[in-house]
Amino acid sequence: MTILKGKILTCLAAFAIAQEAQKAGASSGSFPCPGCSQPLAWSAAPGNGHLWGQCKTENCVRFMQ
Ligand SMILES: [Zn+2]
Repeated sequence: MTILKGKILTCLAAFAIAQEAQKAGASSGSFPCPGCSQPLAWSAAPGNGHLWGQCKTENCVRFMQ
């Protein structure tokens, strides 16, 4: 997992939420950022299932796995 920006714990929390949504069958979506409550968009790459996510707030959460 690569933390591109933001606090590690906030990124991990956001990643866990995206991972749960992916397990539930979604391939993309958004949820309130655990760090700032702004929308955080995520998507799963087709094929390898890698997760990408980015908070709407600049320099907040951004992750990729
Ligand atoms: Zn945020």
